[in-house]
Amino acid sequence: MIEEIFPDLYKIEIPLPESPLRAINSYLIKGAERSLIVDTGMNRAECRRVLLSSLEKLGVDLKMTDFFITHLHTDHLGLVADLADKSAKVYFNYIEASMLDFRKHWEESSAFYRVNAFPAEEIEKALEGHPGFKYNMSEMVHFSTVKDGDTIEVGKYRFHCIETPGHSAGHTCLYEASKKILVSGDHILLDITPNVSLWLPERNVLKQYLASLDKIYLLDVNLVLPGHGRPFNNLRQRIIELKQHHRERADEILSILNSKVMNAYQISSRMSWDIEYGSWEEFPASQKWFAMGETLSHLKYLEDEGSVHSEMQGGNIVYSVA
Ligand SMILES: [Zn+2]
Repeated sequence: MIEEIFPDLYKIEIPLPESPLRAINSYLIKGAERSLIVDTGMNRAECRRVLLSSLEKLGVDLKMTDFFITHLHTDHLGLVADLADKSAKVYFNYIEASMLDFRKHWEESSAFYRVNAFPAEEIEKALEGHPGFKYNMSEMVHFSTVKDGDTIEVGKYRFHCIETPGHSAGHTCLYEASKKILVSGDHILLDITPNVSLWLPERNVLKQYLASLDKIYLLDVNLVLPGHGRPFNNLRQRIIELKQHHRERADEILSILNSKVMNAYQISSRMSWDIEYGSWEEFPASQKWFAMGETLSHLKYLEDEGSVHSEMQGGNIVYSVA
């Protein structure tokens, strides 16, 4: 589905079969010479078919097209290797350009999840169902790395790169100041709450995410173009809601713990999840994996603010209210 949002700026909705996200938005900005595509869909036939036929309808020549990828998740990055011509620039944040070895990351976070009591027999299943494993880039591409403040010009648009770590380590939005447009990737969505998952023990990703919300709050924005779901206008209202949501999740964990001692898997199974399965036991392993990541990011946040205490007990990390 193609929609012209602004002159020469199109939203292309690309289906994500079997994914709770249902679809990803790719944005095309047409220039007199070269065009720019922001995010691509997964490396799978259903995505490729829709994107290629949309580009054909819009008269876009891939030989004259560059790419910007908001972050490393496969629904945004996966198809770029198939689409990018040798002459194409593929803009991507410098932080995640060195983080694309999915297997290596998976092994590191498997160990972290295991010590947090994620069952060993479910880890392999979670890997098999994980889109990062199934639909990643077919080969490595050469990236033109960007950092905070860099600009990208295409047609009548001049975008500023804005680093917004949290949803992923190097997530980067695009801001068009004169038109007051924010291409928000997965940093800010309207219909769902962006996943903020902890993969490795060191980082306080939720703290990073909340700081990135505050950073975006300062911008003058009339229109937000998100990676999933509908474009929307009231950015600041949405930021307030998202901050509120994470405070409520953190408070939910505190009330689940109450005076008990639990591991992160037990806490995850008691949290309320906005998902179509009846009970925790029915969650596919890959969804349990994402849920666990959310729980861990909130636990880390609570621990750093001094509300939660963790310790090793019988080979697992357990948590209690401090
Ligand atoms: Zn994402």
